[in-house]
Amino acid sequence: MAFTAIHPEHGRIDATRSDLGCGLDWSQVHRVRPRINLTCPECEWGVHAKHSSRGLRFFAHNAKRPAECQLSNESVEHHLLKLELATAIRAAGWYAELEVRADDGTWRADVLASSADGTRRMAWEAQLSAITAEELQERTARYADADIAVCWVSPRAEVPWLSSAPAVRVAVPSKDAHVWTVADGLAKFMPKLGSWVRVSDIDLATFARWALQEQVTPHTILPRYRRVRLRPDGSLSRRASCWASAKSTAAESRHEQMRSRQDEQKKRRQERERVEQERKLLEEKARNAEEERLRAIEREAEAEKARERLQVQMAQWAAERKERLAQAEEQRRIEEERARKAEQARLAQERREREAAERWWAELSGEQWQGLLAAIGELSVQEKVGKTYPVKQGVDAEYAFGVPIMARRGLYGIVRPSPDSVKNWNVYGRQRIFVRNQREADLFTDQGVDPALVIHFDLPDFEQLNLC
Ligand SMILES: [Zn+2]
Repeated sequence: MAFTAIHPEHGRIDATRSDLGCGLDWSQVHRVRPRINLTCPECEWGVHAKHSSRGLRFFAHNAKRPAECQLSNESVEHHLLKLELATAIRAAGWYAELEVRADDGTWRADVLASSADGTRRMAWEAQLSAITAEELQERTARYADADIAVCWVSPRAEVPWLSSAPAVRVAVPSKDAHVWTVADGLAKFMPKLGSWVRVSDIDLATFARWALQEQVTPHTILPRYRRVRLRPDGSLSRRASCWASAKSTAAESRHEQMRSRQDEQKKRRQERERVEQERKLLEEKARNAEEERLRAIEREAEAEKARERLQVQMAQWAAERKERLAQAEEQRRIEEERARKAEQARLAQERREREAAERWWAELSGEQWQGLLAAIGELSVQEKVGKTYPVKQGVDAEYAFGVPIMARRGLYGIVRPSPDSVKNWNVYGRQRIFVRNQREADLFTDQGVDPALVIHFDLPDFEQLNLC
């Protein structure tokens, strides 16, 4: 079916207009005899005027029409929407032409709206069949090249390309409501929500007027606001564009500026905080470094003190060692001195004793010596110790300058030790002492020598020869 046809005399006629667009009455083409040779503007096949049971006027192809004619293939629903669009455009005071082709074939509008002054044109496309966003954009671009605005209109429940080009989704009139409404694609910006909210209660005629008068225009939504609310309190839907009023786009722009300022402020605040944080960190670092430096100085001072203490200690130890060595040296010197003196004393004593012994022995003549030996020999006979004999002639410090007398069993006794050399005879001598007489014996016993150890023979002090 089609709303337009080519009249052999009047050219293009439009079934949606009361005068068919050329001053004719519907009755002049509908069921007239003889038949007027009307043709399809698309395929040039013969058509005839017709109307539906509800009074919808249109042109139907004659029998055996070509299968590829677009107009003949369009659905009733499509045609109803086109009719509705044309009606809305005319109500807004614009001209509406249906099924219009570009002379060069670059476009073919379902309904082409033209302003009364003829300066502006806008295509309205009833898009019922599936179409890709790319194709939609390409066709939109072709209209733009021809300086024609466009609005794609779909009555489908789901319109995936709603955001891809200037488009609206319309709602088919229900049994109760007899007007078409724009269900989606139109939105207003609500600053309080900071969001676009879909407008879904505007009738198609009103929307068409707004769009034609540019009270609403296709608007590319700023990236920040592309989550559009389906209702003020409703769910969100992602949209890149919508039809919107200048007021709304200005509100969006202001909101965007505010948000940008806020973002900028937030950025500046964060930057300040970052700088502050960095400053604090640097301060902290500097403080730590300073503390570390002071601790290092303190440690160095401690180490220096310890070194000094050690040096003092070592000096002290060295002094003490020196002192000890000096003391030891002094002690050794004293000991040596003492030993030297003791040795001197011993030597002096020995000399004295030797001199005394020499004097002591000088008192004794050879005869007296022989006499004494004879007396000892007699004693040894009495005591039955066998033959005795003096170990040697002469005297020395051994045996206290006396002469040892040996018997068969060993030392028999000491003859005339020097009285000056027998001080401890009892203790370490315990040998018998043989002397000449009582006077000599007394010289020993007077010094504490055990009288039992002192044997004398009552020999005269003077030589008897002298007495004779
Ligand atoms: Zn046709």
